[in-house]
Amino acid sequence: MSDNEYQLETLAVRAGRAQTPFMEHGEAMFLTSSFTFDNAAQAARRFIGEEPGNIYARFTNPTTSMFEERLAALEGAEQCVATSSGMAAILACCMGLLKAGDHIIASRSLFGSTINLFNNYFKKFGVETTYVSATDVAEWQAAVLPNTKLFFLETPSNPLTEISDIAAIAAVAKGSGALLAVDNCFCTPVLQRPLELGADIVIHSATKYIDGQGRVLGGAVLGSKKLMEPVYGFLRTAGPTMSAFNAWVFLKGLETLKLRMDAHSANALQLAQWLEQQPNVARVLYPGLPSHPQYALAMKQQKTGGGIVAFEVKGGKEAAWKVIDNTKLLSITANLGDTKTTITHPATTTHARITPEARAAAGITEGLIRIAVGLEAVVDIQNDLARGL
Ligand SMILES: *Cc1c(COP(=O)(O)O)cnc(C)c1O
Repeated sequence: MSDNEYQLETLAVRAGRAQTPFMEHGEAMFLTSSFTFDNAAQAARRFIGEEPGNIYARFTNPTTSMFEERLAALEGAEQCVATSSGMAAILACCMGLLKAGDHIIASRSLFGSTINLFNNYFKKFGVETTYVSATDVAEWQAAVLPNTKLFFLETPSNPLTEISDIAAIAAVAKGSGALLAVDNCFCTPVLQRPLELGADIVIHSATKYIDGQGRVLGGAVLGSKKLMEPVYGFLRTAGPTMSAFNAWVFLKGLETLKLRMDAHSANALQLAQWLEQQPNVARVLYPGLPSHPQYALAMKQQKTGGGIVAFEVKGGKEAAWKVIDNTKLLSITANLGDTKTTITHPATTTHARITPEARAAAGITEGLIRIAVGLEAVVDIQNDLARGL
């Protein structure tokens, strides 16, 4: 299915569908570890790559391939490589494209495990990372070294919803001969398409909004055929492959992604507006509010503000914990992108292992609460928060 022939809603439901001779209407799930050949000659042709086709599920599986084609259509990418988790996507991307002696420039506001991967593992193999501001493009330019190969960012960032200017940072990367990878987990292609803005690679944790219902782990790397070739090469060799079952769940998730992202966004905006009026709330950070410091950029780059709202209550940690502990409906968990609203205290959970000074410098105060707004009635979410506020 060609990208410009159909709208995103249609691609999300139909793209990448492959039928077997049974002519099934739904997507078939191929629970098989390996595939058989007509004869020895065909096996030989498949193994040396002379004939396309499935060999072994660490390499390819038809259900996983369907998911890859569908997500590629939505992101406008030539190719997608599906992985066992979002972290496996980041690992496969970097293992495929980097070598010892290379340098990464990354936003300081990255997912915690991404920072651990860069600092504790890549560093061991001679890949160094410099961290810069998510929002100050000049810092990216100033950090460029002769061996800089990759720029890496997430936008909006977690939990402060800072917006990185993808087009401007892509221009700096291009000028430095480096690639820009954008972790598009928070927006999904429904709200933001980084490749159209000049990024080279898109990363997904499909675990979040793509599944959208908190069931399975998965991830994806997307980009040109040329860039994805070594990424896929690492995957089929090392094995952090997406299972057929998970791919089937994600295919179903993609079919409702547009509806869900619109609903998450509408609920989040309504909740953010309500939070702004609460006397015990010191500030609300939501990219869809005119009070957000980068509202104009967010509205240029994203279709909506997304589903994540952060806010700071007056009274520090004690007040924040009071809000969390007085909820009855919301799930107290660090996960996000679910139909069920989740509530987190970043300073003592997701960002607890960094020093208080670093936390303060990053703006993650003791009173900060992050909400991944789900699909419940907003009034019920408000009432649940009002008790502790
Ligand atoms: C969750 C998350 C990841 C990691 O994904 P997993 O599927 O948990 O491995 C990466 N980036 C962002 C922004 C995330 O929220």
